[in-house]
Amino acid sequence: MTKRIIHWFRRDLRLDDNTALLTAYATAEEVVPVFIVDDAILRRPDTASNRVAFLLESLHDLDGNLRSRGSRLVLRRGQPEEVLAQLVAETGAAGVYFNRDVEPFALARDARVATRLEGQCAVVSFEDGGLTAPDSVKTKTGTPYTVFTPYKKAVLPQSVAHPRPAPTQLRTPADVLGEPLPTLADLGFATAATLPPGGETAAQARLSDFIRNGLEHYASARDRLAEEGTSRLSPYLRFGCLSPRRAYWAAREAFSNGSPGLEGWISELVWRDFYRQILFHFPYVEGGAFKRAYDELAWENRPEWFECWCEGKTGFPVVDAAMRQLLTTGWMHNRARMIVASFLTKDLLIDWRWGERHFMQHLVDGDLAANNGGWQWAASTGTDAQPYFRIFNPIAQGKKFDPTGAYVRRYVPELSAVPDRWIHEPLLMSTDLQRAFRCIIGVDYPSPVVDHGHQRIKALAMFSRLTTNQP
Ligand SMILES: Cc1cc2nc3c(=O)[nH]c(=O)nc-3n(C[C@H](O)[C@H](O)[C@H](O)COP(=O)(O)OP(=O)(O)OC[C@H]3O[C@@H](n4cnc5c(N)ncnc54)[C@H](O)[C@@H]3O)c2cc1C
Repeated sequence: MTKRIIHWFRRDLRLDDNTALLTAYATAEEVVPVFIVDDAILRRPDTASNRVAFLLESLHDLDGNLRSRGSRLVLRRGQPEEVLAQLVAETGAAGVYFNRDVEPFALARDARVATRLEGQCAVVSFEDGGLTAPDSVKTKTGTPYTVFTPYKKAVLPQSVAHPRPAPTQLRTPADVLGEPLPTLADLGFATAATLPPGGETAAQARLSDFIRNGLEHYASARDRLAEEGTSRLSPYLRFGCLSPRRAYWAAREAFSNGSPGLEGWISELVWRDFYRQILFHFPYVEGGAFKRAYDELAWENRPEWFECWCEGKTGFPVVDAAMRQLLTTGWMHNRARMIVASFLTKDLLIDWRWGERHFMQHLVDGDLAANNGGWQWAASTGTDAQPYFRIFNPIAQGKKFDPTGAYVRRYVPELSAVPDRWIHEPLLMSTDLQRAFRCIIGVDYPSPVVDHGHQRIKALAMFSRLTTNQP
């Protein structure tokens, strides 16, 4: 048995079913669990204070869980390659173990770490972040899948490994020093959003609650904007506070006789894997259209319209409610993400990358692979894309998925007195009705920033010009 291994925590902030950690535990007498606060990440323009807040809570929870097993989290700050080289020198560790990431930034960082530690100790990485490894599911001709449904058929149900429980005890050398956990303010961030509690403990509780109370109704409730019809597990999966394999098997085992909710929910976990493998195999999607021809789309990019969209002041109630949900809670319902992304790209004719960045700056679950996949889906520039001529009508979407207007009223208080009949089209109210319901359009609540029908024609022309010119 090796004497000491360093486990480098990154997007795997849990003890349960943590592949690299469990291997270190099985291989070494002592494990040094380290987290490195990396200023290169904190300074990125798409870093969200909401995610930093969630991260800090998750680290706090992780430290508590390690302590209850006789260990503790060693926190250091600096460039990962230098911090790890120093830690290896201090501890004499025989190896640095970590779980692999798929993001280009992380892959470049990990390559630097491997080079820096060459000859000093072993650097070993493990597959952990998905139901399956991003390069393990291929078509018969050995190419990656770029269409979701065949990908899903290839993944399920056999290939998902069963989760393994957390180590019961972990020995960590007493003389390895770490810094105290910083506060959000120490790192130069602040947030006013009401966020979910971070950490593995909260993740496990939420998973159990969802399986007990939500999963059965998922198929019918998941698209209703005003309800908590989805699991809200995305931030936990994003930071690895929850193993996707644990989530998968917990759901399957609870509903071993099957249920529509189960299959629908599992599909969403597979979507997460699907976009991870897209980013892994086609890293140019970070910053570029999956279908490269669409990089030439002539977006109008009007900054004043973008500002209305970001602030939730477009005059389209469901869009505004969703954008304000993002600002106040750091999260947005999936159906709402689809509506606002379609609206930005196909009604406001603004480049999907602008929206992608705004989402990353606020989402507590902001994740390059899923966010990029979602944006490119909505903009029809991505894999398996929604054909560009299918354009969401924001009023029809609002009526369908928020029929009583409860979602709109929750986030757009200016419309709180407007009856259901006009809640998604307040402009249709006469001046008298506007006065009666204390909502004068153009004064209390904005007039629609664009005419949907008109913009739809422009969007179709923008896409078809390109399709015609570039076969
Ligand atoms: C424009 C756009 C941007 C998005 N950005 C992100 C993002 O940054 N991070 C993120 O995790 N999800 C993103 N999604 C996907 C989806 O909206 C969220 O995962 C979901 O709303 C999270 O809520 P939930 O945990 O209650 O999901 P549930 O419905 O309970 O689904 C369970 C889990 O499956 C995964 N999942 C669900 N839907 C998708 C999907 N379409 N693509 C990939 N994974 C999915 C998530 O990890 C989620 O927690 C985006 C979708 C769109 C349309």
